[in-house]
Amino acid sequence: MSTSALTTGTLWLLPNRERSLVRRHPWVFSGAIDRVTGAPVPGDTVLVCTAQGTALGLAAYSPASQIRARMWNFDAEQHVTAAFVASRIVAAARRREHLLAGDTDSARLVFSEADGVPGLIADRYGDTVVCQLTTAGAEAWRDVIADALGALPGIARVYERSDAEVREREALAPNVGVLRGDAPAPELLAHERGLQFAVDVASGHKTGFYLDQRDGRAAVAQWAARRNVLNVFSYTGAFSVIAAKSGATSIMSIDSSGPALATANRNAQLNSVDIGEVLEADAFTALRGLRDRARQFDLILLDPPKLANNAKQVEKATRAYKDLNLLAIKLLAPGGVLMTWSCSGAVTPDLFQKVVAGAALDAAKFGSSTARIIGRLSQPSDHPVPLAFPEAEYLKGLIIQSD
Ligand code: SAH
Repeated sequence: MSTSALTTGTLWLLPNRERSLVRRHPWVFSGAIDRVTGAPVPGDTVLVCTAQGTALGLAAYSPASQIRARMWNFDAEQHVTAAFVASRIVAAARRREHLLAGDTDSARLVFSEADGVPGLIADRYGDTVVCQLTTAGAEAWRDVIADALGALPGIARVYERSDAEVREREALAPNVGVLRGDAPAPELLAHERGLQFAVDVASGHKTGFYLDQRDGRAAVAQWAARRNVLNVFSYTGAFSVIAAKSGATSIMSIDSSGPALATANRNAQLNSVDIGEVLEADAFTALRGLRDRARQFDLILLDPPKLANNAKQVEKATRAYKDLNLLAIKLLAPGGVLMTWSCSGAVTPDLFQKVVAGAALDAAKFGSSTARIIGRLSQPSDHPVPLAFPEAEYLKGLIIQSD
């Protein structure tokens, strides 16, 4: 067995705990580890070995996290160098080239484990990359990552938004600011299929825009014509703008964030459309109010924030999803369409469908079988799901039509 000079330690697994790694799942959980030899510090590359001493590959060491190491590769001979990390980033960006043609200039370039760069999220908006480093391994390669992102064709600057809560699990402090190039324009724009959206790079959600709803936006464009639309959890109103552009008769957007709604109005202006009423309110309360006033909508979009962060929260989240979907279904006009999503990875597509089915059943007006699934939505191709890493799948949606 040859250990690379670039590793500073070895993780020895307990007997028979290599199965998931042999199947190329990239996580080494603390409970599978017998001992650590050498003196690795957070983010170092370590060799991962079975109890018998078979080398399984190289991983980034995260001593503070339950996910104690994330595999860089499954070939211990392939050293983890700056060139290796940079080549993973270049390859990931190249796989997105087809998305960045024509009038779309924004896409996720690197999706962490799904692109072989654990802990790195990199989203492109025009000539700006906004990145998040969420693990000790990514943090250790920050300069290499910044250089590689900054050197991608067409990129002028790299901005860091490493303020996600997940960094706490890795004992990493937040880091926000310019990494390469100059500061982003005060109003950065994402262009998508002829529309433009303001991206709040410095303080918006995630990296500033929900790139993962690209396919949802296409679905809204398909269904909004001649419908009165309710956009619940609207954030910066991307669905509302598309609905307006696609010929919706009226639109109401609800979100609890005043700044997000201000950007929604700005997005309407940028695209020369009227998005109607924007309501700063708690969605649960607002939906009850609409129900009590017997309001009806032909197209309802329901895209709540992540309600379950882990398996322990699934039960509680399930009740909230049921509540929201029940209220939404009650607001559907005859023939109305509901697009309903869950972005909680811990809630499986199967469970989500059961919850929505339960809500439809409770909304007695449907009886037991008259609400139909007419489509399914998921995260788009720049948020891929490796066959060996199903955990990368988190966003699922159903398109439901009432009688
Ligand atoms: N559909 C949006 C993304 C929605 S993200 C898009 O495509 O851009 C979830 C949104 O829910 C956030 O904007 C957040 O401000 C909002 N939110 C969270 N809790 C809420 C609540 N209780 N009531 C209303 N909005 C809420």
